[in-house]
Amino acid sequence: MSAFLPFTKPSIDVATIAAVAEVLRSGWITSGPKVLEFERQLSTYFGGRLVRCFNSGTCTMEIALRIAGIGPGDEVITTPISWVATANVILEVGATPVFADIDPITRNLDLDQAEAAITAKTRAIIPVYLSGLPVDMDRLYGLAAKYRLRVVEDAAQAIGSSWGNRRIGSFGDFVSFSFQANKNLTTAEGGCLVLNNESEARLAEKYRLQGVTRSGLDGMEVDVAGGKFNMTDISAAIGLGQLPHLEAVTARRRELARHYFAVLGEDFEKRTGAQLPPGDFRNSNWHMFQIVLPEGVIRAEFMEKMKSRDIGCGVHYPPIHLFKLYRALGFREGMFPVAESVGRRIVTLPLFPAMSEADVERVCVAVREALQK
Ligand SMILES: *Cc1c(COP(=O)(O)O)cnc(C)c1O
Repeated sequence: MSAFLPFTKPSIDVATIAAVAEVLRSGWITSGPKVLEFERQLSTYFGGRLVRCFNSGTCTMEIALRIAGIGPGDEVITTPISWVATANVILEVGATPVFADIDPITRNLDLDQAEAAITAKTRAIIPVYLSGLPVDMDRLYGLAAKYRLRVVEDAAQAIGSSWGNRRIGSFGDFVSFSFQANKNLTTAEGGCLVLNNESEARLAEKYRLQGVTRSGLDGMEVDVAGGKFNMTDISAAIGLGQLPHLEAVTARRRELARHYFAVLGEDFEKRTGAQLPPGDFRNSNWHMFQIVLPEGVIRAEFMEKMKSRDIGCGVHYPPIHLFKLYRALGFREGMFPVAESVGRRIVTLPLFPAMSEADVERVCVAVREALQK
């Protein structure tokens, strides 16, 4: 029997393991020179824009909202199909989450729906690049300019993605990345925020560590209740080990995604009623390979069948607005029909750089069998 194939797995090379061991032996294991070096290299990667690192992608977005001064009374528009963190951070700063439905093809925020949801209270928009596929960035920043909105890009899944010949993160307003274990570039847990100017960077540093700034009689002053969001040098050492491989990792993911399309075949959708992801090999970093199951197929049963063939699948994501917390805020079934339909049927198939072409073929056989009537 073949070994169990998970839906994702990090690739950590021996040099990275050695670098982490070196940090552990160094006598300085929390935020220090490795974090500064990681921020410097990320800044170079993002075309010279300012970058600050944190201990999660979630707090990265929360801090962006705080820097933008968004709080009680403000509305923030986002998508219902994301990791719940995307909406939770809006609540965390005391603002009001406003969902708009998704596009059935890209599965990202539908920018027409987002525009229709804008009110006099709307201050920001948080687009999510599901599986690493960006939204129409020209349209996004057109909307932001027209309605004077801040943008916090939830690019948690989109490191290595681009918009035409520009990297995601190298342009725009706030761009937030996650380095959680499943992401294309990981620090075990962590994240970074791409910022616009020095004053935002100073605020980011302040919110990152208890609101402390260097000033005053005792060399220290506190004027806001910041949090505890700093990245450790152990994490930064993992990130520094991953960054040089990012381009090769992205290329390998694209190759495997192409193989999925080739092996499933052009008539896959017609034959099974399932829906493939948009075949964007230029902009997407292929963080995930997600299909949408046909109506009538129960996802849990499909996943059980895959599991019985030693293949792990994932659910990314159930619609946020139908969680208890959000229902309590007044959200209901029927409000975002596309998100609800996709959220019920979307499945993540295995895709990670260490997979082989043969693994992809094994998954495709299992998918076809599991979808047979
Ligand atoms: C991973 C992820 C986050 C949160 O990142 P953490 O580092 O786990 O806090 C937010 N949004 C999306 C879309 C993600 O995939």
